[in-house]
Amino acid sequence: MLVYILMFCLGASVGSFLNVVVMRTVESKSWVSGRSRCDHCHKQLSWYDMVPIFSYLLYRGRSRCCHKPLSIQYPIVELLVGALFVWWIAVGAFFFRLASHPLATLQPLYWLLVGVVLIMIAASDAFYGLIPTRYVYFGVATTLIYRLILITGGAYHWADLGESVATAVGAYLFFYSLRKMTLGKGMGEGDEVLALLIGLILGWPKTLLGIWGGFVLGAVVGVLALMTGKKKFGQTLPFAPFMVLGLLLTLLWGEKILHYWG
Ligand SMILES: [Zn+2]
Repeated sequence: MLVYILMFCLGASVGSFLNVVVMRTVESKSWVSGRSRCDHCHKQLSWYDMVPIFSYLLYRGRSRCCHKPLSIQYPIVELLVGALFVWWIAVGAFFFRLASHPLATLQPLYWLLVGVVLIMIAASDAFYGLIPTRYVYFGVATTLIYRLILITGGAYHWADLGESVATAVGAYLFFYSLRKMTLGKGMGEGDEVLALLIGLILGWPKTLLGIWGGFVLGAVVGVLALMTGKKKFGQTLPFAPFMVLGLLLTLLWGEKILHYWG
């Protein structure tokens, strides 16, 4: 139990750092320079202003210095990365027990990294309405390198890689033509590159399921947002969080769903 609490705290702290990275990427600032300052009055923050989740709850979502509301992005990303780390140590420990292969340590590391990248992509789109393509390309490069290492270790095959690359290109072209057909309304260029990453991760035929799931989830939330008056008709929702959720659900249950249908 203690190890889960520690992993959650570690993940939430990583999430806290990633919040700053996402914000500075979106604002095109340097990732590392300067100490953390208040979003509103730019006063320098103390460590107790930056305790993940806790500070947000303690000051009720406001800054301690000037009492202005802070973005809900802070606790959400901290919570998500914390949850990812807990899941990872639970499942990662399982992988390590199976370790009869040197690649068994690489596998959980890859998924942790990809999980973090996907959370950053979803958060950028959800809170700023844009997908930094450098995050997506980082995910694509990591996935390709990981798969190539698996191939050299005999745990993956060239044919599988070829299939997932072809699927990725197909998914990219699908979103590209969708954007051209809708004249850029609804879909952005970021969605295309994200489709490329999802296609690469899921391969054929799971990509179909993942993207379909993303559309269904997006449609359901879109209708709910219209009904509750949170959005007006014609306003677009950020799509990346739904794509990432579709990917996650497919990773967890895709095998079962395809088996059931097939
Ligand atoms: Zn302030």
